[in-house]
Amino acid sequence: MSKKPFASSADLGEKTETLDILADGVYALTAEGDPNIGAIEAEDFIIAFEARATPVAAKEWLAKLRKYTQKPIKYLILSHYHAVRVLGASAFEAESIIAHEKTKFLIEERGKQDWDSEFGRMPRLFKEPDSIPGLTHPDIIFNDRLEIPLGGDRGNLVLQYLGRGHTAGDIVAWLPKQKVLFAGDLVEAQAALYTGDAFHMDWAGQTLDNLKALEAEILVGGRGAVAVGREAVDAAIEQTRGFLQGMIDKVGEVHKRGGTLKEAFEATHEHLAPKFGMWPIFEHCLPFDVQRLWDEFDGIDWPRIWTDKRDHEVWDKLQD
Ligand SMILES: [Zn+2]
Repeated sequence: MSKKPFASSADLGEKTETLDILADGVYALTAEGDPNIGAIEAEDFIIAFEARATPVAAKEWLAKLRKYTQKPIKYLILSHYHAVRVLGASAFEAESIIAHEKTKFLIEERGKQDWDSEFGRMPRLFKEPDSIPGLTHPDIIFNDRLEIPLGGDRGNLVLQYLGRGHTAGDIVAWLPKQKVLFAGDLVEAQAALYTGDAFHMDWAGQTLDNLKALEAEILVGGRGAVAVGREAVDAAIEQTRGFLQGMIDKVGEVHKRGGTLKEAFEATHEHLAPKFGMWPIFEHCLPFDVQRLWDEFDGIDWPRIWTDKRDHEVWDKLQD
């Protein structure tokens, strides 16, 4: 059998983008499993959620948003540090960039390696990579909760840290009045999970419990379609938990009996593929996911840094 192409390097087909207006002044752009983005309109300004992989890619999103509103972008919110969500930040010309304090730390610690790694894994998302001016540095950071009043009768936007999950510093953007939740990569709606920098046990437990307790009626996950209605929202949350729990069970079993990483990968693949194998980026993510969870079972709390070199080593060991 021929080797699988590395990560998403062979995925070059353009995706269809859909701009949804979820409530008055609340926008989300989804793209068939590519990273989602959003924007929230306040009385006098806009708050953008996620920045895409390059300024050129971000400008394409902004051109679509500008058909609905011309207000200036005051805040750009980064849900977490991953390159495909932050390196387009300069296009927004935002007054301030907001993130969790751990996200700021992670960008400083491993932002450059993550840039190289994600570029190698998902080149299609990096439209005109030379347009990236450098790493993105948030200038407003918080560790628990930050509220932004939207003015008029629009209510508040609540930025919240719900515990360790997809990374050490994920935040969600919650509109209690409209009951709309931008969940970042903490929830995926019918797209595979990337957990290469994750804290699987925290994420599958308390963090998703905290997220579910918000009782959102509309949820924008990191990838996949918008979930509309309590039933669909809870289904997306529980699918995410199911993926994580399936990994924890299978990798845990093999680790406990003294098996190998390769055996853990194969057992997990076999277990998850019938339910999740057809979802975007499943084959791409799984080797990195299993490696990180294996590390957690080995007692490595702080995720090891992915480099272009380590990406290929793990891929070659597992996806053959
Ligand atoms: Zn991510």
